[in-house]
Amino acid sequence: MPAYDETNIFARILRGEIPNQTVLETEHTLAFRDIAPKAPVHVLVIPKGAYVSYDDFAANASDAEVLDFTRAMARLTHELGVDLDSGQGYRVITNAGVHGVQEVPHFHMHILGGRNIGRMVD
Ligand code: IMP
Repeated sequence: MPAYDETNIFARILRGEIPNQTVLETEHTLAFRDIAPKAPVHVLVIPKGAYVSYDDFAANASDAEVLDFTRAMARLTHELGVDLDSGQGYRVITNAGVHGVQEVPHFHMHILGGRNIGRMVD
């Protein structure tokens, strides 16, 4: 696992050094609007802990962090109005490393919705 880069933009957001459009904050998790949205709903969900990628987070975060993050994701789909009860739906993705074309090396999930996202994998 590459060393965590404390200068990445999401670390700076977590330190309050640059602004963000927060939609949810819990003990271990922060969710905010993507600065360049690819869909009407485009929210990034990040753990407050220093994890580079999904596998880093899933392997090394505490049970409390993983549960908090997972429940925050569920709460967000509901509060953003894209959960299945809304009749809409959504896509969750995470990019990791070179082949995943990850730009920001702090683990994050994208929640995309508000339009038909189309198929990416057949
Ligand atoms: P990824 O690392 O490839 O998953 O992409 C990083 C995402 O972060 C992109 O969708 C960017 O638009 C988004 N992003 C980059 N900087 C900021 C910011 O300062 N605030 C919110 N979103 C950002």
